[in-house]
Amino acid sequence: CRAYVGVYFGVQRTVVSIADALGRPLARAAAASSVGDPERGVRAVRALVTRASARAEISLERLASVGVAVAGLVDHRSGTCLLAPNLGWRDVALRERVEELLGAPTTVYNEAHAGALAERHSGVATEVDSFVRLTIGTGVGSGVVVDSQLFAGSTGIAGEVGHCRVEDDGLDCACGNTGCLETVASAPAITRAVDEALERGEISSLRPGSHVRLIVDSARQGDDPARAALTRAGHGLARGISYLLNVLNPELIVIGGAVQDAGGLLLDPIQEELPRSSLPQNRGCEIVMSSLPDAELDGAVLLARRLDEAATQAG
Ligand code: BGC
Ligand code: ZN
Repeated sequence: CRAYVGVYFGVQRTVVSIADALGRPLARAAAASSVGDPERGVRAVRALVTRASARAEISLERLASVGVAVAGLVDHRSGTCLLAPNLGWRDVALRERVEELLGAPTTVYNEAHAGALAERHSGVATEVDSFVRLTIGTGVGSGVVVDSQLFAGSTGIAGEVGHCRVEDDGLDCACGNTGCLETVASAPAITRAVDEALERGEISSLRPGSHVRLIVDSARQGDDPARAALTRAGHGLARGISYLLNVLNPELIVIGGAVQDAGGLLLDPIQEELPRSSLPQNRGCEIVMSSLPDAELDGAVLLARRLDEAATQAG
């Protein structure tokens, strides 16, 4: 019986999942990602797959195909990661290298695209034909689904809303520009906003460098700098979302990633700011939080299964 591999190259962690023929997860393995060293990052996958398959008691020969989701721009056809700004990877022949290392057919997608596919398959967007799912982590990305299909763009890099400029005189972004949405609304940007409040002497239960999940918890308990940091991120996100609404007119926007548990602490400032930059006729679009904890990895497994299905049908 066949088994599938999903690989998620996040900026913080690389996670491998082995799934059965129906896509049900059997085992996982994870390691810290290799920022600045793609070859090391790719090699780590082999060890992770070996470890996860041993846990799942699956022999490596049974691995039918591999789906890779990476936190960067991917040319689908060649399977090359053109740029993963926060991983410091550029022009990495991911498909080729993973196929060499694992000996199974591989498909490579941007991780936010994979997250949108998972959201449509088993998340809050199962019944929704046109939506956008944001992935908020070290960077900000998105997967656009139009008429039930992922819209990847002409070369595969659609949805890069994190690199839309939302601030003049903003901070430097890993892409080389300044004032990008991800300099305002990513997990590190939220942490930085709290750190700045602490430096100004504002009262908070948080320490410098706090993880965004802890910031969300503190905000819920009324911590002012934590709430202000989420409000600022929400206002920035509203600007990015307004472009998506005005251009795509989706039914739904889903927010996933590190801020997923923030609920109204992020959604309220988004709704507050949105009217300033989007058409009133787009107000019907709902904005909700994702409930999938690992959409990007789930999406990678889905992509592996789809690749195998397509090969079986073709052959
Ligand atoms: C990258 C995207 C990625 C996003 C979230 C951005 O910096 O350009 O490709 O999807 O971060 O990780
Ligand atoms: Zn940028």
